Amino acid sequence: MQSAPPAGTGTAGAPPALTLEGVTRHYGSSRGVESLDLAIPTGELVTLIGPSGCGKSTTLRLVAGLERPDAGRITVAGEVVADRSRFVNPENRRVGLVFQDHALFPHLSVARNVAFGLDRLPRAERRKRVGDLLDLVRLAHLADRYPHELSGGEQQRVALARALAPRPAVVLLDEPFSSLDESLRAQVRRDTVATLRETGTTGVLVTHDQTEALSVGTRVVVMHNGVIEQADVPEKVFEQPATRFVASFMGDADFLPARVHRALLTCEIGIVSTVPGWADSDVAVDVVLRPHEVALRAEPNATAHVSGVEYHGAFVLHHVRLASGRTVRSWQPHDVRHPVGTAVTVTVAAGTAPTLLVGDRAVTTPPRNAPRPPVLP
Ligand code: ADP
Ligand code: MG
Repeated sequence: MQSAPPAGTGTAGAPPALTLEGVTRHYGSSRGVESLDLAIPTGELVTLIGPSGCGKSTTLRLVAGLERPDAGRITVAGEVVADRSRFVNPENRRVGLVFQDHALFPHLSVARNVAFGLDRLPRAERRKRVGDLLDLVRLAHLADRYPHELSGGEQQRVALARALAPRPAVVLLDEPFSSLDESLRAQVRRDTVATLRETGTTGVLVTHDQTEALSVGTRVVVMHNGVIEQADVPEKVFEQPATRFVASFMGDADFLPARVHRALLTCEIGIVSTVPGWADSDVAVDVVLRPHEVALRAEPNATAHVSGVEYHGAFVLHHVRLASGRTVRSWQPHDVRHPVGTAVTVTVAAGTAPTLLVGDRAVTTPPRNAPRPPVLP
């Protein structure tokens, strides 16, 4: 598994807002998270994604101080908050939290909810800070309401204001939009991201939504079975996945056995691309094909056949069964529909540089202990 290369520091000389080094937490014999390495520069909004149970919430709970790591070190804004000999309590960590269920205090007004973490401020300053935060999330007119008198989206904004009020170095958001219905979700997401950007707050946002992870994150961290598989900018995670898991989890992907011989990548559908720098190799790989890279042309003598057609509105997803029985998928424009059974030639769009896998790892240079190439028909 590939762990994240530590990101550079953000503003010159300033320490990262958050670093994790070798952070491990087990629950009895089951693995919560294992050897997490991550550095988040100040001002970034990182999205953390992975299947249910992969350790996302555990990671946030460790950073917040709701759990103690078994090993490793956590640093917030340059201060060690957890390691072998040190453990800073949650209230002293400069970490803000926003949960899925908002967790507002039901018996406190909106203004008092936002003021909750500000008891160290003199009263006048506290009132000013609450007013500023309510302005920021556009809720000043609801300051005296109680949580049950608010919509889900408004509650979410109060939770965000409350988390930001003490000027945390990092705000952690654990699936903050999942309890909102679809129509509200996009708006609240935009508002939340805008608020974090406006205040320059460093954020870690947990999501299980691939599109959200890619569109919101300045950096995307993909977790699986308690480890970080890849941490990188969204384009890299999608276009150059580090592992088979990342390729299949972040977007649709089909895998075909392939061969790189004298810098030419071939598989069942023919020549896929050239692979610069692989001139001397003869290597068996798997090629990762994304449906938007796969082109189709109806051709009566072709050996591949359309096996399924799904209309998605703007695009139509075609499932194609190759002669070997393997399938690949292809996005076609909304007005293109090859009926099931149509014989089609499958090619890869010009300019595509697909990911190559040896085993479960992506390779960009010819592997040394190369597997023998497959015998292709
Ligand atoms: P995610 O948020 O990604 O869905 P979690 O971080 O909640 O996953 O959980 C990661 C793993 O740790 C899971 O296998 C989960 O069952 C386990 N786990 C989390 N919290 C506890 C706990 N308090 N006791 C025992 N196991 C736990
Ligand atoms: Mg969780």
